[in-house]
Amino acid sequence: MTITTQIQAKPLRSMLPTVWITLASIALISCCFPQSASAWGNHTPPAYRALEVMKEISHSPPVKVETLDSFLKAEEPGIQALMAAQELWARANVDAYAPRPASLDYKANPAYTDAERRLAFFKALRIAQDSRFTLYVHPDARAGEIRAPLLSYNAVNTLPEPANVAERFIAISPGEYRSVLEVVASASSEPDYGLDINCFEDNPGDWGKTYGFGTLSFGNPAYTYSSQAPFHMGFFHESGIIYKAGPFVKRTFPLLRAHQYSSLAIFAFKTGHAYWGWRFTGMALHYVQDLTQPYHARLSPGESTPRVISANVLAMIGLPSMKQNLIVLLANRHVALEQYQSQLVRNAAKAKADTPVVLALRNSGKDAGYPAWSDAYIKDVVSRQSATYGDRIAATLIATLPAEFVNDPTQNFGSGGNVDLVGALSKIDAAQRDELDTAIAEMLGNFGSHSRNMIRGILKAAAMP
Ligand SMILES: [Zn+2]
Repeated sequence: MTITTQIQAKPLRSMLPTVWITLASIALISCCFPQSASAWGNHTPPAYRALEVMKEISHSPPVKVETLDSFLKAEEPGIQALMAAQELWARANVDAYAPRPASLDYKANPAYTDAERRLAFFKALRIAQDSRFTLYVHPDARAGEIRAPLLSYNAVNTLPEPANVAERFIAISPGEYRSVLEVVASASSEPDYGLDINCFEDNPGDWGKTYGFGTLSFGNPAYTYSSQAPFHMGFFHESGIIYKAGPFVKRTFPLLRAHQYSSLAIFAFKTGHAYWGWRFTGMALHYVQDLTQPYHARLSPGESTPRVISANVLAMIGLPSMKQNLIVLLANRHVALEQYQSQLVRNAAKAKADTPVVLALRNSGKDAGYPAWSDAYIKDVVSRQSATYGDRIAATLIATLPAEFVNDPTQNFGSGGNVDLVGALSKIDAAQRDELDTAIAEMLGNFGSHSRNMIRGILKAAAMP
């Protein structure tokens, strides 16, 4: 090699980290705005509709409420063994896994106080150490007005309370009996209540420094909501060149979380703690439901790989506008989809109406057409299917919604708070709106089918009727 080519080769090599960084910015699309941290807004309203049709739930007797501390204390040796098994599973099954440091292994200790035991449990799960695990339910809006006193938002959720919050939490007490549907539907939102915040070493706070997940996979480590994104998104079906240009794209952990909570659910059922069986089931469902949202299963829905790479290359040579525009547009479309869908489900619940999205959520006709539940199901069935919706949903959003929401990079919808998309859409052509409503109903149908299939998998593994 001549000196000249060595000199020429050096900048190319040194450009590679820059490509990663700029691609990281593209990934940040989906997590740099607070509103886009979630997939389907609050999971509880659609979960009520998807799960109320399951006999395994509607025919189950109410479950006796129990505190987390009581469950952990009663089953400590079994939990120690389970958490060791979870780690072995993750090392064998999660791509780009970050092994749990041995210092965080759960060790049974009858001398622990409740607080010490709970902290040891959080450390072994590697979740936020201020996670609430409050005894609560989020009542079904379709059931009418809530008469019980409400819990404060921060009694359940450690994140800052947004304006016009739709969540309504009520306290439940140890020893009382609650329906399985309200326990599991309420818990399906819980992972968005701060459990996966600041778990990376470059995030603010203390626990991420010890968890061994490394630096934040993508996004801005200073943004609270960005820090949960790698647990709630999974980019398993991108083109090879994307993984080559940005290995960080593989560093996502929804499969880890789904396995942790589903195996805890199976363990709780087997040891006679039905309340925790259903609550952990709801928490596990969350990660599967997140992946049914195409903006959580694809890095840049509707945008081709060459276009994404071109935007990054132009940014690298000092022309950042194409990349900046792409980031804003993708974030806006993500938020628009989530907010419009949330409004459709919420409005239907309030009106007690069986609208197309409600019928789609309840429709279990397609459930048996999917493969039986297995470790591979989330990646090979849920996320693969969701990834195929990416381009279609992006095109439909662009064709249907007013351009200011989805096709105007000067509008930053992500930071603009709640927008009445149902109101805006009511002014457009019904046939045009119908295309979007049909696509959303289909995706919520997938949300319902995969949620029910996961529950069937958990109950079968727990040998529950
Ligand atoms: Zn989520």
